[in-house]
Amino acid sequence: FRASKLRELLSSERPVRQDPPSPTVPAVEDLQDAIDRQALTVVFQPRIRCTDNHLVGVEVLARWNYPGRGAIGPSAFIPIAEDAGLIVQLTTQVIDMGLEWLARRRPEQHLQMSVNFSTASLTDRGFPEVVENLARTRGIEPHRLILEVSDRAVMADPMVSLNVLARLRDKGFGLSIDDFGSGNASLEQLARMPFSDMKIDSAFVHDASRAGVARKVVRAIVALGHSQDMTVTAEGVEDHEALRFLKDIGCDFAQGYLIGRPMSAERISAWMDARAFAEG
Ligand code: C2E
Ligand code: MG
Ligand code: MG
Ligand code: MG
Repeated sequence: FRASKLRELLSSERPVRQDPPSPTVPAVEDLQDAIDRQALTVVFQPRIRCTDNHLVGVEVLARWNYPGRGAIGPSAFIPIAEDAGLIVQLTTQVIDMGLEWLARRRPEQHLQMSVNFSTASLTDRGFPEVVENLARTRGIEPHRLILEVSDRAVMADPMVSLNVLARLRDKGFGLSIDDFGSGNASLEQLARMPFSDMKIDSAFVHDASRAGVARKVVRAIVALGHSQDMTVTAEGVEDHEALRFLKDIGCDFAQGYLIGRPMSAERISAWMDARAFAEG
């Protein structure tokens, strides 16, 4: 059984969603330069608990202010960084910018932070120690940092991935399977990996507010995650209908434009203050 079958099942109903066209491909030298100058920035997107809408954490997402083009999204430059061998350096910077922000939050909020890492970091045997040192330097306990990796990345080299993931888990970090259902991951292999959370791909969540078959798939993924003792997060929650459904079926966490868009450090701090004020 492969999760991609789920997608085939749904493909007839799902509108094709594409990234906005990119006029020029950014040059590798420009990206290297931006990394060297530490010119990349990050934005933060909130994640809430479904039962009571409580803010549990944020996901940190990379942005690049490309000269003359404004902020460009990671889908335009992450693949370039991966091909050019710059991804570990980039990931390290993103994690550290996120941790720096997290370290300034009030400790009693117990906020978690999720960060994405891709195949190259997963096959870098030194990565767990790098992450451990970053967290220690910023004074962040490991359980407050969740590393997200897509099911596709895990399958690139399952043996080495398992080693890196197991060592991260041993150190106390959270591990989440990102975009679950979008790749070709074998459930058998995924079940052997020490994930603590599963993130349902936004394509399913999107359709769950209207299509019956998508609802069945989302319900099945939540049950699957729980059967493996994982929490389940839905991403791409854009309307109340979807959030209500997720609550009804016992999905643990939700993230998406309905709750909050990715925001700069200043904006999300203001967003959090306003929310805390509203909650009393
Ligand atoms: P992801 O980890 O699945 O992140 C979620 C993406 O969905 C983000 O796009 C976010 O802005 C977008 N999103 C969130 N809520 C909604 C919603 O309600 N509707 C819709 N339509 N979209 C929503 P973004 O920031 O463009 O990131 C795209 C992908 O790039 C990420 O997908 C992640 O895989 C990768 N990425 C981002 N930052 C990094 C990074 O620092 N390192 C690595 N390796 N990958 C990164
Ligand atoms: Mg992610
Ligand atoms: Mg995702
Ligand atoms: Mg995604």
